[in-house]
Amino acid sequence: MERMRILPKGWKAYLIDLDGTLYHGPRMIPGADGLITALRAKRIPFLFVTNNSSRTPEEVAAHLEAMGISARTEEVCTSAVAAARYIAQAQPGCKVAAIGEAGLTIALKEAGLQLTLEEPDVVVQGIDRQFTYDTLTRAARWIRGGARYVLTNPDLLLPSQEGLMPGAGTLSAAIQAASGVKPTVIGKPAAPLMDFAIARVGLEASEVAVIGDNLHTDIAAGVNAGCGTILTLTGVTTADNLPDYVKSSGVEADLVCRDLDEVRARICGSGE
Ligand SMILES: [Mg+2]
Repeated sequence: MERMRILPKGWKAYLIDLDGTLYHGPRMIPGADGLITALRAKRIPFLFVTNNSSRTPEEVAAHLEAMGISARTEEVCTSAVAAARYIAQAQPGCKVAAIGEAGLTIALKEAGLQLTLEEPDVVVQGIDRQFTYDTLTRAARWIRGGARYVLTNPDLLLPSQEGLMPGAGTLSAAIQAASGVKPTVIGKPAAPLMDFAIARVGLEASEVAVIGDNLHTDIAAGVNAGCGTILTLTGVTTADNLPDYVKSSGVEADLVCRDLDEVRARICGSGE
């Protein structure tokens, strides 16, 4: 890959995407366990950063551990936890209506926010596999009535064992149509999820690099947050479609690695 550069100096921590980067559904991507082990051995800080709002950090860590990737709850940043923190900081003590699953409602409660189904100050929405016409009606009325609208992540579709599934962004399209309001977006490609993760590692954005498989989400979020970026050809992007994705996303990664062994060699040095 002629675009590859020498690893820029000064990257002290890494924000690592999950689906398509470390695993595909229940299956670990080769080298994922070795990458995390090497980061720990070198005492290089890292966090797992995911747009998925349905799982709690505990569940995400357990999922990683089950497939052989060492992970701790406090190393997981989800769009739900970042959304909860964002709302708690922007409007402390506000009343929040949650449209989402356990990962979102638990994050909101842990951030000290008050959940309500009446006259919310904020409507926060993630993926909700129980979403109904009634949910849509209430969301549209609340937002039209002046509630702020926050979206955990704008993903339109998600891969699953059975095929593509509508994501939080698809539900949001209906809410936007009915309410006439565009949400504040927390997850990738927007910056707030990355800002949250950068604050958690306690470094400047320029000292942190995002590792992910998708130019439109991971790499764009890294660019938007002011981080370095490493693209792995383990998921959405392949050597063949890379030029098309660069064109359609309008972003390029600082470093492109064909697999996770190459990522490990670049950021941890070769060998273990
Ligand atoms: Mg991914």
